[in-house]
Amino acid sequence: NPKLHREAMRYLVNDIYPCIQGEGVNTGVPMMLARLHGCPVECVFCDTRETWTIDPDMEVNALRAALGTSTRYARVSPEIIVEQIDELNPRRGITDILLTGGEPANQDLNELVRVVHARGYTVNLETSGTALGHVDAEADWVCISPKMDNPSDLPVLPEAVAMADEITWVVGRASDIEEMLTFVDKYPVPDKCNICVQPMSQSRHATEVCMEACERYGFRLSIQVHKYLSIR
Ligand code: SF4
Repeated sequence: NPKLHREAMRYLVNDIYPCIQGEGVNTGVPMMLARLHGCPVECVFCDTRETWTIDPDMEVNALRAALGTSTRYARVSPEIIVEQIDELNPRRGITDILLTGGEPANQDLNELVRVVHARGYTVNLETSGTALGHVDAEADWVCISPKMDNPSDLPVLPEAVAMADEITWVVGRASDIEEMLTFVDKYPVPDKCNICVQPMSQSRHATEVCMEACERYGFRLSIQVHKYLSIR
């Protein structure tokens, strides 16, 4: 994939902090979230827009200077990233890392995954399925949230989907379930993959549509616990 940032194994990092996974199969699991910077997908409902643009004016030298700012990012080695994670997790109570974005798979994740594995962490990844930076990396859990009609028209790639342990599908109405069934037919979704349906904007109607689909097809209900708790 020519769009991957391969430059000397340095990663664009927007933020690192401990969190509780709020959605999907691993809801409730504490994780050290590493938000990588940069995303070309431009989803309408994106809640991390500040990660979209790789603006040199927003780049800072020290990772610490980027943390908590949302808008700034640092370009750092995997070793610096894992040191920062350890510093924020001094008792090593958290054993999982969540690589998210932005679009983390726009960067070649191989080296980063190798380094955090060597430090004993389990690697979870969240991606839109529009990039392939995770395909050679050995993440332990890959969650794909396919952004099918994204404004940038970036296609969801079959090679990305073939890596999925979990697919999260946002549902507003019954026709979204039909679209998801078509997606599962058309793409190489692995047999072991969990399908999670997620009601849009905590709507009652969407939740009912999702619950019915779970009971009918055996999907998992993902209810974005963090939004009910007003935490990030
Ligand atoms: Fe936002 Fe994720 Fe969509 Fe990128 S892929 S625009 S980070 S929701």
